[in-house]
Amino acid sequence: MKNETDRDNRVCGVLLGLAAGDALGAGYEFKPAMEAGEPVGMIGGGLGDFAPGEWTDDTSMAIVMAQALAASGGTASEEACTQMVRGWADWAKSAPDVGVQTSAVLRAAESLARRGGRELPVAADAIQAAEDAHQRTGRSGGNGSLMRTAPVALAYLHRPVEEAFAAAAKLSALTHFDPEAAEACGLWTAAIRHAVLTGQLDLRCGLHLLEPARAGLWEQRISAAEAGEPKDFSNNGWVVEAFQGAWSAISAATGHGTGQAPLDRRVLVEALEAAVRGGVDTDTVAAIAGSLVGAACGARAIPGEWLGMLHGWPGLKAVDLGDAALELAAGH
Ligand SMILES: [Mg+2]
Repeated sequence: MKNETDRDNRVCGVLLGLAAGDALGAGYEFKPAMEAGEPVGMIGGGLGDFAPGEWTDDTSMAIVMAQALAASGGTASEEACTQMVRGWADWAKSAPDVGVQTSAVLRAAESLARRGGRELPVAADAIQAAEDAHQRTGRSGGNGSLMRTAPVALAYLHRPVEEAFAAAAKLSALTHFDPEAAEACGLWTAAIRHAVLTGQLDLRCGLHLLEPARAGLWEQRISAAEAGEPKDFSNNGWVVEAFQGAWSAISAATGHGTGQAPLDRRVLVEALEAAVRGGVDTDTVAAIAGSLVGAACGARAIPGEWLGMLHGWPGLKAVDLGDAALELAAGH
């Protein structure tokens, strides 16, 4: 029973860690890096004038995914993808902080649907709109798909890592055409899944799923993150540096892979605070970090004060995220 309880704790830690990092970083978005030890709190404010403890687009978009995956038996089916696109489009109509790339893609997907005589967009409209945006601008490697991998890892917890990786890449492409975003999502999803299953942090556990040249590049990026600190990756609106900033924060908190540090509250809090102190896209980097460090440390490592404050669209609180995580991880 103990093992099951521990695993449930880590399952809940995925979505609650995501939300805790998101709400912690919300008040510091687009501010410069902070000094080590400078206080960080759930102060609210930021771009969306959020309340203290309120999560932002990162968690809200993940909730839409969690609901769609749960409704489709935990599979990233076409129906689930369409439900996500429609759910995001609905959310974006009233959200104060939709990412630039995501917002453009969702609007273009709705317009493609109308031109095709459909009242509402389907998954293929979003995929086409994401590719069009990439061709038009030459880039689409924003961090907006990496911030929402948490539900994919939970839905694919009991399936082979190859399937989890592929689903993460597929769901990334709903808004982000750039293959780098897909690779980052696949690697992060594999690491969250591994952390829930084993209680261990290993960001390299999905590298073997990439082509050797790509695996080598990502190995270098992971090593650079471990050698640096979050503020070294200040171009963190780009998916690669968001990935590196989040891992840098976790790596430092755990003693740079020495295996010495127990994965407890201190590690979780230090990792999330370090992610925020890295500056710029603070809520997203801390949300990404939170989904992985929360998976490893478990929900019980999140300070009760934070859990009590957490809330956000669509009218949910911490307990609801825990329930959603357990449902996703068990539901197939
Ligand atoms: Mg955000």
